Amino acid sequence: MQTQTIDFHPPAEEAAPILLPVTATLFADRADRFASLATGHSLGDWLEFLGQLSRAQHQALKTLPALPLPDAATLEQARTHGMPPLNIAHRPAAWRNVLRQIAHELGKTAPDGARQALDALLAADDAWLDRLADTLLSGEIEAGDAAELPFIAAALQVVFTKLASQLDASQLQKLDAHGICPCCGSPAVASVVRLGAAINNLRYLHCSLCNSEWNVPRATCTACDTDKEVALHEVDGSSGQKSGAVRAETCDACKSYLKIVYQEKDPRVDPVADDLATLALDMLVDEAGYERSGPNLLLIGAYSG
Ligand SMILES: [Zn+2]
Ligand SMILES: [Zn+2]
Repeated sequence: MQTQTIDFHPPAEEAAPILLPVTATLFADRADRFASLATGHSLGDWLEFLGQLSRAQHQALKTLPALPLPDAATLEQARTHGMPPLNIAHRPAAWRNVLRQIAHELGKTAPDGARQALDALLAADDAWLDRLADTLLSGEIEAGDAAELPFIAAALQVVFTKLASQLDASQLQKLDAHGICPCCGSPAVASVVRLGAAINNLRYLHCSLCNSEWNVPRATCTACDTDKEVALHEVDGSSGQKSGAVRAETCDACKSYLKIVYQEKDPRVDPVADDLATLALDMLVDEAGYERSGPNLLLIGAYSG
């Protein structure tokens, strides 16, 4: 009798450590996802509006020309020091035009509460817009600015998604801090467990700002790196997802959590849209004493009428 080597079906190619955003489809897919999650949802009007916002992001990104990347010396210096190549403090000036384009597009159909904020943004000078962007990215939110911030976030997402898509993936490296984007240094909004050749069943963290993704081992806390005290929580609600597509990954070592979405349960799941359609899950883990480790930028100061 011959011994036979066991075939474990290893992936045909090495899984990519970093996935750059696909600009042609990213925001259009998210818009469709928001629209389908809105149906029959208790926050349906808001999710529907965020679908329109995502659609406006898609239109703005489609017409946005290539943006200037940092020069070769700056990129090399970032690489040497284990820093992300994009610096969110250096925004391309084009972001303000993107914002005005989005505000103009959305203004046609926006509900009253949002329309006031959009009108204020369209009337604003560059200095005020830059101050709002600084406020959003610093996380030091002032109550009076809250209604404008989701639109500021949407515009910044468009320009940083464009910039990230222009990077050379082969020159990127993951950072020591698991929860931080290797392209722009922003925190992750959620994890995605992916379907697909070479990356099947792998977990990728999704950047809250530039929509890049990076591979992190499953059952590892993305805030403190422990693999000992990580658990998954699920909640049923009027969220419209197939059961089990969204869970919260909690860590008892650092008491943080982040959501994790499963393409296997629903291939159309989106880390930003599905996160906002499952706020009941945030309440559940929040009440249990866990603090969320990364923001959803569309929720900061969100319109809630
Ligand atoms: Zn990023
Ligand atoms: Zn932890």
